[in-house]
Amino acid sequence: MAGNTKDRLQALKEILAEVTDLSRAAALLEWDQETYMPPGGVQSRAEQMATLSRLAHVRFTSDEVRRLLDQLEDEVAKLPFDSDEASLVRVTRRDFDEATKLPPQLISEIAHAGSMAQPVWQKARREDDFSLFAPYLEKNVELNRRIADAIGYDERPYDALINRSEPGMTTAELEAIFAELKRAIVPLAADIARHADAVDDRVLYRGFDPDLQLAYALELVKRLGYDLERGRQDISTHPFSTAFGPGDVRITTRVSRDFFNECLFGSIHESGHAMYNQGMGQNIDRTPLWGGASPGVHESQSRFWENLVGRSLPFWRHFYPSLVAMFPEPLREVDEEAFYRAVNRSYPSLIRVEADEVTYNMHVLLRFELENEMLEGTLKVKDLPEAWNSRFKSYLGLKVPNDREGALQDIHWSYVSFGIFPGYTLGNLISAQLMEKIRTEIPDLEAQIEKGQFATLLGWLRKNVHRHGRKFTPNELLERATGRPLTAAPWIGYVQRKFGALYGLETARR
Ligand code: ZN
Repeated sequence: MAGNTKDRLQALKEILAEVTDLSRAAALLEWDQETYMPPGGVQSRAEQMATLSRLAHVRFTSDEVRRLLDQLEDEVAKLPFDSDEASLVRVTRRDFDEATKLPPQLISEIAHAGSMAQPVWQKARREDDFSLFAPYLEKNVELNRRIADAIGYDERPYDALINRSEPGMTTAELEAIFAELKRAIVPLAADIARHADAVDDRVLYRGFDPDLQLAYALELVKRLGYDLERGRQDISTHPFSTAFGPGDVRITTRVSRDFFNECLFGSIHESGHAMYNQGMGQNIDRTPLWGGASPGVHESQSRFWENLVGRSLPFWRHFYPSLVAMFPEPLREVDEEAFYRAVNRSYPSLIRVEADEVTYNMHVLLRFELENEMLEGTLKVKDLPEAWNSRFKSYLGLKVPNDREGALQDIHWSYVSFGIFPGYTLGNLISAQLMEKIRTEIPDLEAQIEKGQFATLLGWLRKNVHRHGRKFTPNELLERATGRPLTAAPWIGYVQRKFGALYGLETARR
């Protein structure tokens, strides 16, 4: 690199470091709001966060950044695609275009519409009255169309929206994936429903001391590799993980005496997110490269540990004796195999966030289809509940009793942004695709898990996924890690084998 290029990169990095610091400070305020802030802090906190995000936005979208990017793009063109420098310029350009394409007027309309719609959504849900929320959702649909127009797209308006969260992904690609999933899941879920008696999960509701659950969960995620020198666990209403830099990546959890899964699997899930952040390279810290490649890739890491590891039999062969020692009463006369079966019970349910591994993606598919149809105008907002209910019946075989447990259940549509839901399914698929590859490279993985050894596995994820941060798009990352772009086949094979065996289905023997 020429001396001038070095100087310009340095100048760009200095600005980006400031922008990163501002965003991380805002994230810390948000963490505090969700954990310890007294209720009276809401107003001041909203002002503080608005100020920080405005400062970050102004600094990032400055003419200076534009000029530096314009010059640097030519200068780093000869560097390898995966070099820190070329990646920094490429990803910063993508973020910069996204941040500057929406006119300020539209940005403030979006913020305003979101804050107006949210309390109405809460009221509509509480009173089970969709008509209250409908005009606000109509406004949100219109704003989503304007976002898509401002960003631009070749084929479908949804392309513009999905590309913001999952770079490089298209609506057509998602439709093909969901069609494949639907063909596999609908019959599998129906088959499981016919054999529902095969799995009994009553043990999970026998009453587990909350303090002991929290202690056990924290000890367990430490064993998986979540580094508490650079992390901590607190309680919040909705579990999440958040990162303020490589040295401070936190998780939150919640605990219920009457339902075992919530605390332990929630903690494993969030520690999966957190280990991803803890594994990101110091070399990309305080730049836009330090972060998850996409919400879908982030979710792949949480699902990987929660489901593919934490809901596996070898995992419970290792941990079950210590769990029984901690909870001798509720686990009396239950063996590890029965416990493994219990935590994997699959059944159609109304609420997405409570859905099991098999049925979860159908909840996402439903939302993906409905968002698309509202955006393209083939579905009117007033007809949404009816469309929701009839599709729910055909995908999951359940009659939706009310809109509170139907079209009004998620907070997402009270914010403006469409295109967030598919990330949840992509996470599931990516986790299985990574696991398929890992099994070929670590042939004794199951034996290692059964011995409680997770270092080789975490090392693989660090090397192939974590350290890269946002350098690559989801498909670029997958091609480098597994040799091919996203495919649904590994996940479909995984659920067919696992649940076929659990429920004694024909599919298992195919
Ligand atoms: Zn998650």
